[in-house]
Amino acid sequence: MVDTYRHKGLRQKLVETIKEKGIKDTRILEAIGKVPRHLFMESGFVEFAYRDQAFPIGAGQTISQPYTVAFQTELLQVEKHQKVLEVGTGSGYQAAILMELGVKVYTIERQRELYLKSRTLLHKMGYKPYFFYGDGYLGQPSFAPFDKILITAGAPEIPRELLSQLKIGGRMVVPVGGSEGQVMMSVDRTGENDYVENEHGYFAFVPLLKGKQ
Ligand code: SAH
Repeated sequence: MVDTYRHKGLRQKLVETIKEKGIKDTRILEAIGKVPRHLFMESGFVEFAYRDQAFPIGAGQTISQPYTVAFQTELLQVEKHQKVLEVGTGSGYQAAILMELGVKVYTIERQRELYLKSRTLLHKMGYKPYFFYGDGYLGQPSFAPFDKILITAGAPEIPRELLSQLKIGGRMVVPVGGSEGQVMMSVDRTGENDYVENEHGYFAFVPLLKGKQ
């Protein structure tokens, strides 16, 4: 759990890179500058931790590229104390960034190994989101409705069943597409049965899968 001046220096460079790529929200840039990404990866990969790249984290999954994390977080337009459901805990890095923004995080992971690992790590770091081991397609009905829902894996289509767990006025951010890439989409719930969809460019995620492992 060591965070040195060198790590901090590398992190500031990463913040500059992400800023240059177009992220404007200073709260998000500060969060990226604060969360020690190298702790979310195997030791020995410090150089990689502060490159703007996705990286394998075991179980065939990846920690998302920092720019992608920042982009999705910016699109989510969170405000302090809001309830955010994250589907795909993975390494827990995105959850940590959200916690830095002062929101209440509910995060679901379908891979038991990753669920256990990220839960242990985040608790050690002092972050306390609500963790769930299960199929994110089902959401968390007992904690719904959520102000925001963030899907961090590529969904073949918008997971409509999750939209019922979104508050009216709330927003879902979800990458939609297959293995060749996904379109980042925002879905705003504007009324009981009214939704407004928008597209925000192309990204590459590991797939959103059904069931748990
Ligand atoms: N937010 C993560 C990104 C991890 S990659 C991070 O910051 O590191 C996407 C994750 O989604 C993987 O860990 C994968 O196992 C998980 N996933 C895929 N389908 C899922 C589902 N239906 N429910 C919950 N998690 C899922």
